[in-house]
Amino acid sequence: MRGDARTVLADLVDLVLPATCALCHRPGAPLCPGCRDAVERCLHDVPRPTVPSPPPPGMPSCWVSGEASGALRAVVTAYKDEGRRDLAEVLAPWFGQALRAAVGADGAARESLRGRGLLVVPVPGSPRARRRRGDVPLRPLVTAAAEGLAGRACVADVLVATRTTLDQSTLDAAERAANQAGATAVRERHRRAVEDGVCVVVDDLVTTGATLAEAARALREAGARVVLAAAIGATTRRSGGRPTLPHPCP
Ligand SMILES: [Zn+2]
Repeated sequence: MRGDARTVLADLVDLVLPATCALCHRPGAPLCPGCRDAVERCLHDVPRPTVPSPPPPGMPSCWVSGEASGALRAVVTAYKDEGRRDLAEVLAPWFGQALRAAVGADGAARESLRGRGLLVVPVPGSPRARRRRGDVPLRPLVTAAAEGLAGRACVADVLVATRTTLDQSTLDAAERAANQAGATAVRERHRRAVEDGVCVVVDDLVTTGATLAEAARALREAGARVVLAAAIGATTRRSGGRPTLPHPCP
């Protein structure tokens, strides 16, 4: 059998019943011990607030569990785009930690959990990405994370994309902001829940913050009193906007 064909066959077997590491494809699913170590080196000891540089206007206060580079970014990509949904068990706790940190740091959010209830709002994926993947990979992670909040929290697809946007991965910070501007709205049927409420917008990884800032704008415009954000990881950037090297994180 030719090498290419063997690789394709191995990939097919992995899709049905992953037995190999999602990153290095050696035995050990979802991650072998070596790759798990590499990913854990991308994580902070405790979740931290993050501010993109430069921060987009209206960027909400945002908490993350790690550095979105190297192994951590590779795990998120494998989960979302390479069919490795078995990585949910790895990613969900990190999502949960960031969400708890965001809520714990804000008095209005803590009060909302005990009273009226907190809205956990996934960023709306593009219809094109939904068609390509066949599902919304962020959703089960968000649901698991919200279940870890002590109190009344509800995950709701409050936001909707109002127009087609370009693939963000090819754009710089200014282009991403322009690409996202006005691209999100609160669904009519959720307006009452948003009005005067506390919302935490969630995304997998934060790069320029343009997506979170646009989501926050739409929620505030619909009357949200407080908007926070949480993600698994964030890219650290210099003020010039160039990514820094991931140092201990491979
Ligand atoms: Zn591995």
